[in-house]
Amino acid sequence: MALKQLDEQIKTCRKCRLWQGAKNGVPGEGPFNAKVMLVGQNPGAEEDKTGKPFVGRAGKFLNKVLAKNGIIREELFVTNLVKHLSPNNRKPLPDEIAACAPYLEAQVNAIKPKIVVLMGAVAWQAPRVEGVKYVETYHPSAAMRFTKMRKKFEEDFRVLKELL
Ligand code: URA
Repeated sequence: MALKQLDEQIKTCRKCRLWQGAKNGVPGEGPFNAKVMLVGQNPGAEEDKTGKPFVGRAGKFLNKVLAKNGIIREELFVTNLVKHLSPNNRKPLPDEIAACAPYLEAQVNAIKPKIVVLMGAVAWQAPRVEGVKYVETYHPSAAMRFTKMRKKFEEDFRVLKELL
């Protein structure tokens, strides 16, 4: 399915309960032919307000790490495993992840990236598409807070730059 159609489906999705407490479904953004996709957990308050992924604090930190490694964010497709905000920013529940995961799978099938970077333990649960390389790293919110995780997170993006 084309990305645009997926965007529409995601924005109007009612497959789980999360839409009820959210302003916007957040499909993600980036070129339809991106070589790399970045995948987070689910939108936070800022993302819910704007309908855009990673525009809040975690996004600003992510932007810094990308810039530091000469990676242009606009060339990547940035999204989340779960496309709606959750109540009090709690972790998405297993049934919410199961309901939403086919969207990411369809986005990967549409974009056909070389590499998908899964950021954080929720994103690590993403379904894998054959022929695509998956890299697991920490979530930027965790990397922001904990030195050890930040070092690994930054190292993973250094390696990513070399793979491009
Ligand atoms: N955290 C996420 O996992 N995704 C976002 O888009 C923002 C914060």
